[in-house]
Amino acid sequence: MDVSRREFSLIERYFQRPGQRSDVALGIGDDGAIVRPPADSSVVVCTDTMVAGVHFDDATPAKAIGHKLLAVNLSDLAAMGAEPAWVSLALTLPEVDDEWLAAFSEGFFALADHYRCTLIGGDVTRGPALTLTVTVHGLVPHGQRMLRSGASPGDYIYVTGDLGDAALALQAQLGNLPCTDAQLNRLRLKLHLPEPRVLTGQAVRNHATSAIDLSDGLLGDLGHLVAASGCGARLDTELLPRSAVSYEVEPATGPWPWLVNGGDDYELLFTLPENRGSVLGTIASLSGVPITCIGQMERTPGVRLWHDGESVTITDESYTHFRES
Ligand code: ADP
Ligand code: MG
Repeated sequence: MDVSRREFSLIERYFQRPGQRSDVALGIGDDGAIVRPPADSSVVVCTDTMVAGVHFDDATPAKAIGHKLLAVNLSDLAAMGAEPAWVSLALTLPEVDDEWLAAFSEGFFALADHYRCTLIGGDVTRGPALTLTVTVHGLVPHGQRMLRSGASPGDYIYVTGDLGDAALALQAQLGNLPCTDAQLNRLRLKLHLPEPRVLTGQAVRNHATSAIDLSDGLLGDLGHLVAASGCGARLDTELLPRSAVSYEVEPATGPWPWLVNGGDDYELLFTLPENRGSVLGTIASLSGVPITCIGQMERTPGVRLWHDGESVTITDESYTHFRES
């Protein structure tokens, strides 16, 4: 079988599936896909890449990689307030591993189906390192999108879910954090199977003044938001939401670096003027995802950390691929 036939059967076998959204005029199979966005909506486009050895290690199950690759992209859409619609997938593979591809596509499609997001195309190439890229396209009614800019001094800062489990999972895997296998598995749920806050993003888009998703660490990501908004922020670190298992493995409370610098949280952070804070209870109960107030926007640029009323210093060590030396 020549290479292009092999490629085609691989796409057919693992990525071409019956059933797609009615707004997909042309899906996989031609030189490009054709989609029909509704006239009243804007299209939001986000791309994220995951590279073996950088974003996941050899021990990460293929099904989890399929889930997470799409989840991190849907998390970006959520932060814009968009509803997922279409997705394309580019794979660079060192070799064709059928077992891996089957598990990867299972994880990918379970999440895609959950959000009615249709795979409309992609690419498959051979290359030295397993490299996976997704581009998602989402819909948001004109003018209703959320941006990083837009927050004002006085706005309250909120996050969804809880923070730090993924960072703790990484530390536990390195042997730096004593915990049981059961605890490690619970921490790893957050690292391997993050749940993009898609519904919360759409629910808060008419109320929030700004939003960002937390992927590289709270301190750095909030830093992007305050810079884009032209103001600063105060974080009350004792308010940061933590999971039950995080209290089991780290019972003491404190302004922990893993809470403010740990990446891979994939929670939403957004700001709201004080007078609309009451809608959040309803949104949290409808979406089943808790929302916690963790601080307030301020006039002075930069992010300041407080713990139980005292100023604390933790340097921003959020993840960056190319650090200036
Ligand atoms: P071309 O050479 O014209 O770029 P390809 O042979 O790469 O076409 O792809 C054939 C079709 O399969 C295209 O519609 C493309 O979008 C789709 N496709 C390729 N790889 C993937 C993939 N990993 N997932 C989904 N669709 C894919
Ligand atoms: Mg191609």
